[in-house]
Amino acid sequence: MLEINNLHVKLEEEDKVILRGVDLSVKAGEVHAIMGPNGSGKSTLSYVLSGRDGYEVTDGTATLDGADLLAMEPEERAAAGLFLAFQYPVEIPGVGNMTFLRTALNAQRKARGESEVSAGDFLKLVREKAKNLKIDAEMLKRPVNVGFSGGEKKRNEILQMAMLEPKMCILDETDSGLDVDAMKLVSEGVNALRDAGRSFLVITHYQRLLDHIKPDVVHIMAAGRIIKTGGPELALEVEHNGYADILAEG
Ligand code: ADP
Ligand code: MG
Ligand code: MG
Repeated sequence: MLEINNLHVKLEEEDKVILRGVDLSVKAGEVHAIMGPNGSGKSTLSYVLSGRDGYEVTDGTATLDGADLLAMEPEERAAAGLFLAFQYPVEIPGVGNMTFLRTALNAQRKARGESEVSAGDFLKLVREKAKNLKIDAEMLKRPVNVGFSGGEKKRNEILQMAMLEPKMCILDETDSGLDVDAMKLVSEGVNALRDAGRSFLVITHYQRLLDHIKPDVVHIMAAGRIIKTGGPELALEVEHNGYADILAEG
């Protein structure tokens, strides 16, 4: 599914190296978590994979099902099945949530050479997915995220994910973290989407998110590299002892 080899990344504008040889292999159906101290490059990794401007890959590769992700435009990455949540919980005044979802879905279909979804089929689909996430019709009509609570924004992102049915979902928990309710919503939404053909990369500072989203593999990232990989017990070790011991080993 996702294969990252020896990925080195620096800032485009400055000579600041952020990723120093990241290796990561996520198989279909697996959930991997990346933890690590603040500033270790976790968000940068997710930005680079999604194709955000401002970063320069100086070495290494990243492929999704064998296709070179780094050579694709951001829309092509989305069409190839990559989804990054929590990157932009932006408000889009003037654009209705439904319109936004339909545009995103059709952009994905177009990039895949498929025809646009009909108005009727779209409505059926969005209603069904929204219902599963307890999103009411009123929220679907409102401008994207405008005046949404934190929890509603999170649910809306999970709705975007459910509509686009990505193969590889990257969730970068923001530094501010989620409150308990938002964390539950995100976890339930993610767990409902877990599937043999879909993989997740969950980036988090907090072990507690991993109580809800049970990872198959846990990685610790520090200073731009993955320095340790293990099972769910690694997250518990971090919870109890912090990063100091692992950093000393690494
Ligand atoms: P994490 O998500 O693990 O906290 P980040 O990927 O956000 O780490 O950041 C890694 C390092 O790169 C930090 O030192 C951060 O300050 C720096 N960094 C990332 N993006 C930028 C940027 N656009 N400009 C300046 N420094 C940046
Ligand atoms: Mg940070
Ligand atoms: Mg971060």
